[in-house]
Amino acid sequence: MARAARSVGRDPAAIELVAISKTWGAEAIAPLISAGHRSFGENRVQEAEAKWPALQAETPGIRLHLVGQLQSNKAAEAVALFDVIHSVDRPSLVAALGKAMAAAGKRPDCYIQVNIGAEPQKGGCAIADLPDLLAAARAAGLPIVGLMCVPPADIEAAPFFALLAELARRHGLTQLSMGMSSDYETAAMLGATVIRVGSALFGAR
Ligand SMILES: *Cc1c(COP(=O)(O)O)cnc(C)c1O
Repeated sequence: MARAARSVGRDPAAIELVAISKTWGAEAIAPLISAGHRSFGENRVQEAEAKWPALQAETPGIRLHLVGQLQSNKAAEAVALFDVIHSVDRPSLVAALGKAMAAAGKRPDCYIQVNIGAEPQKGGCAIADLPDLLAAARAAGLPIVGLMCVPPADIEAAPFFALLAELARRHGLTQLSMGMSSDYETAAMLGATVIRVGSALFGAR
């Protein structure tokens, strides 16, 4: 990641590596925490609730990211547990998160997930819906810091990363959550500020 960032004149320290620990237990996560890593991601609220409170009690300062699709009825639990939510993608979820944040008095940083390859099976809002969703999220008091995407598998990710960066620029957003085990170098070169890596750190799931 650092080499890729430097190759285009970016400061590697400007990129947060989120270790995606979904499916892995505390014994797999502990070595990363011992090595000083503090940024972790999960894709399921229930799995994270079972795993992280104990780890957080042992080590203060852990920053927990939710990177998976979020059901509106889990919004309150997600707000309570996570520091960052990457998967805001529809008006009903914006409303649920707005309510949950007001009730909890806690406002995790949020990303709007964009369905950048227009894939029907994937989460994320359509590119055409982004301006309205962003306005709704801001009106509901969600702290939207940037955009997130998971580009189509098995084709070159670079054009999708470049498009996400352009959309963020257009809307005055500075944070880009993009890049996974197979394409983190490309993402680092194209402006990612948050890179989400699972299997390259933990092994195959
Ligand atoms: C699982 C997951 C990742 C990490 O994927 P790897 O290919 O294992 O690095 C990143 N982002 C999201 C949204 C995920 O669900």
